[in-house]
Amino acid sequence: MLRSKLPSPPVAIESQSPTLALRLPCGGADTLSAASATAAAAAAAAPFRRCILRGPRNATTTCNTGVVVAGVAPSQSPLPASACGAAAADTTRPGTRRPWSRRAVTVRPVAAVAYNGDTADKYAGGNGGGSSVPSGGAEGRRVVIVGGGWAGFGAAKHLSEQGYDVTLLEASPNPGGLSSGWRTASGRAVEAGMKGFWYQASYRNTFKLLEELQLPSWPLTDFTTSGFWNPRGLVTEAPVFSKLPRLPTLVGQFVHTFPLYWALPLEDRLTMLPFLATLADYVSSEERYEQYDKMSAYELFRRCGVSSRCYNEFLRPTLLVGLFAPPEDLSAAAVLETLYFYALAHQNDFDVCWPRGSIAELIFQPMVERIRTAGGRVLGSRLVTGLSVDPLTGEVTSAASYPADAVVFAVGISGMQKLVSATPALAKQPDFRNIMELRSLDVIATRIWFDRRVPTRYPANVLSGFESTAGATFFNLNDLQDEYRDEPGTVISADFYHANSLLPLSDQEIVERVVSHVATCEPGFKGAKVVDSIVLRFARAVTHFSPGSYQHRPFQATSIPNVFMAGDWVKGVPHGANGLSQERAYVTGLSAANLVMSRLGGGGQPAQILDVEPDEPHIAAARSTVRGLRELAGAVGLRNPFL
Ligand SMILES: Cc1cc2nc3c(=O)[nH]c(=O)nc-3n(C[C@H](O)[C@H](O)[C@H](O)COP(=O)(O)OP(=O)(O)OC[C@H]3O[C@@H](n4cnc5c(N)ncnc54)[C@H](O)[C@@H]3O)c2cc1C
Repeated sequence: MLRSKLPSPPVAIESQSPTLALRLPCGGADTLSAASATAAAAAAAAPFRRCILRGPRNATTTCNTGVVVAGVAPSQSPLPASACGAAAADTTRPGTRRPWSRRAVTVRPVAAVAYNGDTADKYAGGNGGGSSVPSGGAEGRRVVIVGGGWAGFGAAKHLSEQGYDVTLLEASPNPGGLSSGWRTASGRAVEAGMKGFWYQASYRNTFKLLEELQLPSWPLTDFTTSGFWNPRGLVTEAPVFSKLPRLPTLVGQFVHTFPLYWALPLEDRLTMLPFLATLADYVSSEERYEQYDKMSAYELFRRCGVSSRCYNEFLRPTLLVGLFAPPEDLSAAAVLETLYFYALAHQNDFDVCWPRGSIAELIFQPMVERIRTAGGRVLGSRLVTGLSVDPLTGEVTSAASYPADAVVFAVGISGMQKLVSATPALAKQPDFRNIMELRSLDVIATRIWFDRRVPTRYPANVLSGFESTAGATFFNLNDLQDEYRDEPGTVISADFYHANSLLPLSDQEIVERVVSHVATCEPGFKGAKVVDSIVLRFARAVTHFSPGSYQHRPFQATSIPNVFMAGDWVKGVPHGANGLSQERAYVTGLSAANLVMSRLGGGGQPAQILDVEPDEPHIAAARSTVRGLRELAGAVGLRNPFL
């Protein structure tokens, strides 16, 4: 069989992005024309299952991740600080401002969705956003949660409903973190990229939350098909597996995709088989997991004999949009986990649905209301820059000026790095300093309005090989979101992941690239004119599961007894939905709430965390066989061929 093999590993990509100003909504008539204020950009903001173990306006403000917001204090930026730097820690410290002022662009102020266009303080519940928190609550136990993404909201909702005195502090005026959104002055919805929700088995806790919230209507679409494209055309499509007869996993995926169009020859697809064998191996022991974590996914594919074509046309692009980095810069363990839980553990795992509108409006705003009704406070535009610690006990007594019996940090890697740098009490602790070893990734999100309707074959599309170092997706919002269903023109959302090399481009250049890529897939776009567009840059905003990063990721309980961590990047949370995942982030919030409750002893029911569907019997059997063989091989001195 003639097939080219993967060459030896290239030098790992350094994905720390240059510190470039992010320009906010721009490019269209709707955005970048007017006004006084504003913005440039952004940057700061893994899941894991161990199966085996159990400022004032007109001031130019610099966020600590290299974001410059001209004319708007970071706390007023509509972007999440996890995406926007969380960093204003630096802005308050003399001598730490850095000259990153490039290319700040004037945009119109945007309206915060959380308050239907009102100002940030409407975000505040309870005491109206004042700077001190009244003691009290059902048990008078005060919990400050820093960060208002899925993780922070998961913790805040549960703890407030259990009677704890909860204050959630979020740097941005909008709730939702990387899943946040807002509206421009003319009412156009803007979001930090399109977010999918995977099959119920993986996103069970999120689906349960959506039921609990008793929303006026179900906020998600049905599961959709997706197209996978390269510049030569369609590579393949992903069907909705849950609509097809259910077969044992791996068999089901193979049988149901076999009749579909595949540009990738079968012989190339079959080269993935040895790689599948490692799925049974990487969880066979803690030590084994760490060995896989230190290896890049590229190296693992190479050792398993995956063909170059299969790698370049399928695996690489899939990982660029799944974990936002190329395989040479991804931990093999993180890749194995992600592929297993999102595609391979059960036939239906790859099924995905999409929000029918802005997640901030459909899901986070109702959560804000729930927390307020339960007596909690959700305060936007509150950038936390430091902690007070009791010198005798070493415990935290307040975050910013908010008194706390316990603190949950749910802020993302870059945000946490800024806090560690700015807070001596954290900087003293090795587990917090270790966080400085972690890296985060760059993303660009766009939304483009066309003058006419162009039907697309798939509502969701994955693009490979259109950019040499970035992955890309585009979504037809007329098909997915209620607001655009009757829009006269087509509206697409298109995102670039691992977008380091694209960040310096102008908005117009980025929009032109998107249009060109989309028209390559769907030629109908060639005749369509762009009538409005928005480009958002999120530098160093997303967790990077780089090779060897596992050892540096924090556990939820920390060396400071009343401080806990949550977010998609913390480790030691036994839940299957791994990788960059809203479900994962939400689950870590629930689990942090449980740790707080057991620490403070204030009573209440621990949050129930639903695990993913268990391994199917043949996978469980394969895993236990591999474990046995590994032990046997170890006893006679044989080495694992993949490690
Ligand atoms: C373009 C894109 C596409 C994605 N696609 C998907 C998808 O399809 N499906 C999926 O499940 N997931 C997806 N994800 C990943 C998902 O969005 C994240 O995993 C999840 O939102 C992380 O939530 P979090 O609460 O851990 O962190 P974040 O959302 O980053 O929230 C952290 C919050 O902390 C705040 N903060 C930081 N520092 C401070 C401070 N000092 N003081 C106060 N507040 C602070 C930030 O402003 C931010 O709001 C995607 C992400 C992006 C960017």
